[in-house]
Amino acid sequence: MSRVYNFSAGPAVLPEEVLKEAAAEMLDYKGTGMSVMEMSHRSKAFEEIITTAEQDIRDLMGIPDNYRVLFLQGGASQQFAMIPMNLMKNRVADYIITGQWAKKAAKEAEKYGKVNRIASSEDKTFSYIPDCSDLPISDDADYVYICENNTIYGTKFKELPNTKGKTLVSDVSSCFLSEPVDVTKYGIIYGGVQKNIGPAGVVIVIIREDLITDDVLPGTPTMLTYKTHADAKSLYNTPPAYGIYICGKVFKWIKSQGGLAAMKERNEKKAKVLYDFLDQSKLFKGTVVPEDRSLMNVPFVTGNADLDAKFVKEAKEAGLENLKGHRTVGGMRASIYNAMPYEGVVALVNFMKKFEEENL
Ligand code: PMP
Repeated sequence: MSRVYNFSAGPAVLPEEVLKEAAAEMLDYKGTGMSVMEMSHRSKAFEEIITTAEQDIRDLMGIPDNYRVLFLQGGASQQFAMIPMNLMKNRVADYIITGQWAKKAAKEAEKYGKVNRIASSEDKTFSYIPDCSDLPISDDADYVYICENNTIYGTKFKELPNTKGKTLVSDVSSCFLSEPVDVTKYGIIYGGVQKNIGPAGVVIVIIREDLITDDVLPGTPTMLTYKTHADAKSLYNTPPAYGIYICGKVFKWIKSQGGLAAMKERNEKKAKVLYDFLDQSKLFKGTVVPEDRSLMNVPFVTGNADLDAKFVKEAKEAGLENLKGHRTVGGMRASIYNAMPYEGVVALVNFMKKFEEENL
């Protein structure tokens, strides 16, 4: 067996320890005589899995008691609709547009109410985060929406926007559990887990209790009402049970590594190796302004599409996979989530050095 260094933006690399444990438990989970895939979601064994998973993410993020943790489905994209359906009491919301995912979320919300795009970095291909210290927040906005880490463009909010008292809703799909957070600053934190936490199919929504109500937009389906899932402790219907089980193992893994402060330190160390190289390279160039660079997604280019393609191809041959940039922007992107080892980033940089020598 040989594993590659997988720089995919998601689904993405998972900790090897977690995969090995899951493999060992595949046929007989803790003496139940069956795999977690085969067991009832109402069984005692699964109840313990989901309860432990919730407690572990609460411990990791320091989630206060007045927030609920929901394990849902439908991808992060389903939240683009679920958020306005549940939160738009005045049918107004403010969106900060820092990339394709925020754009898509804003467009979806427009089906349900008035969307004010109060800031955007589209003028420079989303290569920076706009100044959000004094934005024209709408008086009647039900919430302010951000995409905190922009997977495609490689930017990250280093400071949360000043929402002037309005509820902050944040898509953290590509920076979930990558560093400590102050949950109390948000109304909703949510993300698809397929980047930093587990297999595709699970969305985790951390939501303040006062936002969970029956007062949702008319016609909101039962399954798209947060209260349905909060009341049933994420077991209203059959949850993505196997995915939740793997998420639980990743939470334990993060705990064993020292928690979110340790993750941040590791992630900073990894990202620095790559950014330091990019800053002095004569061939490769990072595409994001230094102060807004993501620790998770690092886009870069040579400036020559043919050379980019050659790089991606040769990197793959060297065991460095999925370095092609998003189809909408081209170039390269290295996603270096929690589970990417330091050695993987060093291997990438060494390969880039060699490629630069050969192609300059
Ligand atoms: N938000 C962000 C930041 C993403 O990176 C993605 C997808 N990679 C999405 C939302 C959409 O996620 P999903 O495919 O789970 O709907």
